[in-house]
Amino acid sequence: MSKKLLLKDAHIEGIRYFETYRKQGGYTAAEKALKMTPDEILEEVKASGLRGRGGAGFPTGMKWSFLAKPEGVPRHLVVNADESEPGTFKDRYLMEFLPHLLIEGMLISSYCLGSNVSYIYIRGEYSWIPDILEEAIEEAKAAGFLGKNILGTGFDCEIYVQRGGGAYICGEETALLESLEGKRGNPRLKPPFPAVKGLWERPTVVNNVESIAAIVPIIDITGAEYAKIGVGRSTGTKLISACGNINKPGVYEIDMTITVEEFIYSDEYCGGIKDGKKLKACIPGGSSVPIVPANLLLRTVNGEPRYMNYESLADGGFATGTMMGSGGFIVLDEDQCIVDHTMTLARFYNHESCGQCTPCREGTGWMYKILKKIEKGEGKMEDIDLLWDIQRKIEGNTICPLGDAAAWPVAAAIRHFRDEFEWHVKNPELSQTQNYGLAHY
Ligand code: SF4
Repeated sequence: MSKKLLLKDAHIEGIRYFETYRKQGGYTAAEKALKMTPDEILEEVKASGLRGRGGAGFPTGMKWSFLAKPEGVPRHLVVNADESEPGTFKDRYLMEFLPHLLIEGMLISSYCLGSNVSYIYIRGEYSWIPDILEEAIEEAKAAGFLGKNILGTGFDCEIYVQRGGGAYICGEETALLESLEGKRGNPRLKPPFPAVKGLWERPTVVNNVESIAAIVPIIDITGAEYAKIGVGRSTGTKLISACGNINKPGVYEIDMTITVEEFIYSDEYCGGIKDGKKLKACIPGGSSVPIVPANLLLRTVNGEPRYMNYESLADGGFATGTMMGSGGFIVLDEDQCIVDHTMTLARFYNHESCGQCTPCREGTGWMYKILKKIEKGEGKMEDIDLLWDIQRKIEGNTICPLGDAAAWPVAAAIRHFRDEFEWHVKNPELSQTQNYGLAHY
């Protein structure tokens, strides 16, 4: 059984409220942290080996150490709660059931970074959660954990919740900052990075909800102890939101030492594939990471078990080419049509492209149109190569990672499931009434 750090109290009735959270030991990590110096906290975060839980997996301590500290210029912590990646819903779970864990993590992080005004930018579709967060902020303030002169330390901190307008691109940190400033959520060219010029051109750290929540157990048990959980550079625990054709969709906390096979088939986690079907493929880290066929998902190219951690999921480089990403674990059974599935993703990225750069603006539209044509049985063999060519021209040629996120699923689908694309081309009539999965199993 995986060790629980973040969700250990999630089952307790009323844990959403300050009184119950406090009774369970809540805010003791904050009390401890406020007696430390900001540099001591930073050292703990670095020692923990925590990697950003939003998708990129960049070391959090290192990111914090890049924060510029010019004299007299305010700094900000911004929590990225714009969780819009298809298949990902673990931050929603944290905010809905454990809002004080996030607030406590923000207090510690704000103190460490010197942010007197911090923000939570939350996706518009999570319409009921801002009220939960704002209630938790008021409770924390009433108890002296937010506001002026917190616990008599002289440190002031206010937290504000800002609702997004429902654009996926605002999950990209610089687009998020633009939106927070009241502008259209267009990603900025980097450099300068937010650590130097972020919100209102002030030094800013943008971190994912889960990353900030993880600061609480890190301070609680120390960074060194946190680093002992997990394996290699995959330290601590990770929340996985599992969905698709499985028996037990939900949010699970894992310690990154379990195998993918165990995660999918054990009753503690996904409980196996629905209706006893065969596993066909999986997107292990949210829709932007490449799809992996079952054989490469469960075993590495050397035939060894694959593990649910950053290194193992990406192991083999081009063999899987996938990533832990945001932890949005989407499972596909044997009945699913990869062309149909890829087309749905292409439509999503085309719709969400902000339109600033040509390869993304035009390319995502072309990919969607071609995939639609193939899926409807109206494609030609050359269209598969054209599709491959377009995704190659998008990848690495755009301002922000949405371009790559749109290209990778298409590339992986063609690389691993080219036979399905060809089947649609060769069977135009059948492909209008059946999908590849149903026709072949
Ligand atoms: Fe906008 Fe796409 Fe360019 Fe990102 S890659 S800036 S979403 S057009």
